[in-house]
Formats: sequence, structure tokens, C-alpha cells
Amino acid sequence: MLLEDVTGLSNDTLLGLVVGAMDARARAHSYRNFRVGTMAWGLSPSGEMKFFKGANTKHSCESPKDCGEMKDMRAAHRAGVILTGFLVLAEPQPDHGSGLLFKTLHPCEACRKMMRGLKGAVVHEDARVITINARTCECQVLYMRELMRLHGERW
Ligand SMILES: [Zn+2]
Repeated sequence: MLLEDVTGLSNDTLLGLVVGAMDARARAHSYRNFRVGTMAWGLSPSGEMKFFKGANTKHSCESPKDCGEMKDMRAAHRAGVILTGFLVLAEPQPDHGSGLLFKTLHPCEACRKMMRGLKGAVVHEDARVITINARTCECQVLYMRELMRLHGERW
């Protein structure tokens, strides 16, 4: 199945999202070189498609982390945008909450919690999450509710 069909996004848009996430990932700040690049998108109050770019920041083991998805959600909130999708580009690691390891990196436990808190307000109920393995290019497309269910959480 083509990614275009699964996501409802055009090939050009998808390409732009991947390039944007690659660019964001290059700007990530991680004390252990764990780099995550994200893009999020949705409609503005005037019906315009808006895109947000984010990358993770964690300067030391003790310092708080700030994920790309969190930055995207804050920016969307400021712009009055309801996000209909996220794209996450990274190398996978086991999830700190569920302990599960997938072929792609899912939004972390703290991000999922923030997404649930903003459900309907900043994150659309039927939002999609596209995750891409930055090393193997393997890809997963999930609805938000599927993502939560995989980690044993409610949407
Ligand atoms: Zn996160």
C-alpha cells in the first residue's frame, strides 16, 4: 500500500514532511546523541494548512527533556491550529513507559500524555502518527487511538 493512500497526503507533501523532519533532526540537542526530528500539521482557523517543525532537546542526563512533538503542540496551540498529523524521524529505542520496542520510534510517554491532554483542542481525535526509522527507513502509520492502544493507554 502506498503511503499516499494511507495518509491522504500528496507525495509532494509527504516528501516535504520527511525533508522537514530530517532538517529538524539535524538541529536536535542531545547529550547522548539521541536525535529526533518531527513535523506536525493541521488546519488554521482560516482553513489554511500549517506545518510545524520540532526536534528534541536534552542537554544532560539530569536536565528535563523537551521533545519535538511537544514543541509542535505548543506552536500549534499558539497558532490556533488543530493538528491532524505528526511525523517522527528517529532511530528506535524501547519506550520508557510501556517498555515496548518497535521498528520505529513512537512519541514517548510524556508526549502521549500531552497529546491526550490536548485531544480535541490541539490534537484532532483522528490524528495520524507517521513514524520513520532514520536508519532503515522503515515506516509505520497509526491513528492516535492505535498508538495509545499499542502502549496500553486510552485515547
Ligand atoms: Zn516525547
